[in-house]
Amino acid sequence: MTPTVDIAIAGGGMVGASLACALAQLPLRVAVVERVPFDNDAQPSFDLRTTALSRTSQCILDSLGIWGDVADCAAPIRRIHVSERGRFGTTVIEAAREGLPALGYVLENRRLGKVLWERLAAADNVQLLAPAGIDDATPAADHIAVHVAADGGDQELAARLLVVADGARSQLRAVLGIAADTRPYGQTAIIGTTEVTKASDGETAYERFTPDGPMAVLPAGDGRYVFVLTQADAAVDETLALDDQAFCELLQRRFGHRLGRFQRVGQRVAYPLALTQSRELTAQRAAIVGNAAHGLHPVAGQGYNLGLRDAATLAELIADDLRDGAGDPGAPALLQAYVDWRHRDQRNVVAFTDGLIRLFDLPAGALGGLRGLGLAAFDMVPGAKSALARTTMGLGGRLTRLARGLPL
Ligand SMILES: Cc1cc2nc3c(=O)[nH]c(=O)nc-3n(C[C@H](O)[C@H](O)[C@H](O)COP(=O)(O)OP(=O)(O)OC[C@H]3O[C@@H](n4cnc5c(N)ncnc54)[C@H](O)[C@@H]3O)c2cc1C
Repeated sequence: MTPTVDIAIAGGGMVGASLACALAQLPLRVAVVERVPFDNDAQPSFDLRTTALSRTSQCILDSLGIWGDVADCAAPIRRIHVSERGRFGTTVIEAAREGLPALGYVLENRRLGKVLWERLAAADNVQLLAPAGIDDATPAADHIAVHVAADGGDQELAARLLVVADGARSQLRAVLGIAADTRPYGQTAIIGTTEVTKASDGETAYERFTPDGPMAVLPAGDGRYVFVLTQADAAVDETLALDDQAFCELLQRRFGHRLGRFQRVGQRVAYPLALTQSRELTAQRAAIVGNAAHGLHPVAGQGYNLGLRDAATLAELIADDLRDGAGDPGAPALLQAYVDWRHRDQRNVVAFTDGLIRLFDLPAGALGGLRGLGLAAFDMVPGAKSALARTTMGLGGRLTRLARGLPL
């Protein structure tokens, strides 16, 4: 079978669409297959959520020429305040102390999605197939045959490389014979926007750990805040049924009064949480990126950031391969280079995120005391905060050209 495209991407969500925008800059034929088009309310990736973008993600989007189209809607985070309810220990990470204008930015998923999808629609070398889903794939020596199911009629694509970007519940992983480990946290994230009564700098993000689960409150840029509240699964239905006032009171009890009173909460949406890790990052003529490779707890806002680094790495390896004249994005050596490059960053971010949840999930008492001491001590240990800042900013591993502000 002669390849009809160079690269087929299963999933045009946050990571798949970002990767496609990078690949669109190369002399390649790319097909993006997405089950739910961007302009559909049921789009699961570009939904009501906002994303805390790390400094590295901002650089990658900037290098791709996307940042300029979203910057006016992005709220800078210049400080991250980490605390635990009922304990004195807190730690504050400051952009200025790291010599940076911002630690990251808060951006609406829908806004990012709109810009990414407009780019893809305008790219001559990108075929956007949506609504359509890839439900089968059969690798061969020089291509992978991909079955695309769509209402208007099914079709077969032959690609040199299939990129699996279909999210944490990826079905294509299993089709390719790759197992994944999933550990539910027993917690659900409830997200929404709110207003607060206390005037604040509007540039500080808050991470708060409580016995009922962690909570994040992020500046949305216009005086509003975005919250990510985690609840035990068993309490979620009851929490979602609360009226606005009762919900604000719940936020207040969990967060305290650092921002005054919570008022006027918008629509609330729930996301059950689990840690999902694919056991392999590649299969014959296939690479796995984003949540399909690693679905994380959103406590530290790392999921998309990590997935975007997968995308930037894969795009760089493919660009180098083209430059070397090889021109086979699904070659075994290229796929192995992707595994080698991504392994450490993924392992560290999974350990960091999961470790935070486990640490703050420990019962109160002596360990709780240690935690508080830990945060207070952490604040005083030179270098410790910089190390944390570097992880949250996505600077922990080997940086791609895009992350360093260079073209692909
Ligand atoms: C409450 C919450 C808050 C978060 N906050 C942050 C944050 O602040 N910062 C951060 O970095 N991350 C955050 N994340 C994580 C981030 O949202 C995810 O990491 C990111 O969405 C992953 O993108 P993805 O494209 O890999 O997968 P997804 O977003 O799951 O997208 C997968 C896409 O594939 C499509 N699809 C599925 N199957 C197929 C198929 N067979 N064929 C074709 N298409 C298919 C789906 O329709 C979807 O569009 C948060 C997550 C949650 C739940």
